[in-house]
Amino acid sequence: MTRLAVVGSINLDLVVNVDRLPAPGETVLGADAVHRPGGKGANQAVAALRFGADAALFGALGDDAFGGQLRAGLTDRGLPGATVHVDPQRPSGLALIVVEASGENTITVAPGANAGLTVESMADLEGFLDTADGLLVQLEIPIGTALAAARAARERGVPVIVNVSPVPPGAPADLTDLIACTDVLVVNETEALALDASGADWPERARSLLGRGPGLVVITLGRDGAVAAAAAELIEQAAFPVTMVDATGAGDAFCGVFAVEFARGCPLATALEWACAAGAIATTRLGAQDAAPDRTEIENFIELRRN
Ligand code: ADP
Repeated sequence: MTRLAVVGSINLDLVVNVDRLPAPGETVLGADAVHRPGGKGANQAVAALRFGADAALFGALGDDAFGGQLRAGLTDRGLPGATVHVDPQRPSGLALIVVEASGENTITVAPGANAGLTVESMADLEGFLDTADGLLVQLEIPIGTALAAARAARERGVPVIVNVSPVPPGAPADLTDLIACTDVLVVNETEALALDASGADWPERARSLLGRGPGLVVITLGRDGAVAAAAAELIEQAAFPVTMVDATGAGDAFCGVFAVEFARGCPLATALEWACAAGAIATTRLGAQDAAPDRTEIENFIELRRN
């Protein structure tokens, strides 16, 4: 079984649907609040686990009611709870999401314990990495922590997959170091442009990003699929046509599945195809974690579209 360490954020998404978004200073009444487990780290760890990996999530929660709720959600989904640190000083991460009937939304993230995550607080990470096949990180945690985790993996010869999401403002030096210490860089279109606006098209931009250090660059293109560039290989994968219900979680499902396939040494074209299928399926369901498909679903989905 592929062993994947996921280092990243855990948030509670508080979602309220409204007829129209309030103007600054205005109060509007919305529907009942919906609590959804989120955070890129948690979403990607759940996606990898559903896909059949032996995945562990290294992240942090606050010592509060939301933290208890999030922890229970993670263990219910099958993730080992012991790798999640409880920060006594900070609240759990929250994302306040207000969605208008038109689909327009506002999202305010209060990172809480995610902002305090350090490698020292992830006591079991190094032990897990000793026998891991891959490390997957995103950037809703401090970049210094992501970099330290990447270095710990590299020291052990464990491949590092980094989803540079969100792209931190101001091109900090830690980001340059992190990208240089990355085997697989995964970004969406917006993130790719924020990192490197050069190049006439996506394959060219992916190739240009290879110059920053990664052996493989993957750019996800929403309904246009994804492109992957390595030194001697360029693969474009069309998206699987689906009726989209909610785009949330597509990128996280993609990253979770792609990381597992890469870590187990599967051919690039297959990894890309399976990850795109996972992203497409995730858009047909509400939310992020519960939208992630399992391996059999992805297999059947691809099979059906081949025939
Ligand atoms: P993010 O959620 O990070 O912005 P994308 O929107 O690029 O990421 O989605 C990740 C992957 O999910 C894409 O590469 C694609 O394969 C799949 N996907 C996303 N949106 C759609 C869609 N509307 N139809 C089919 N596949 C989609």
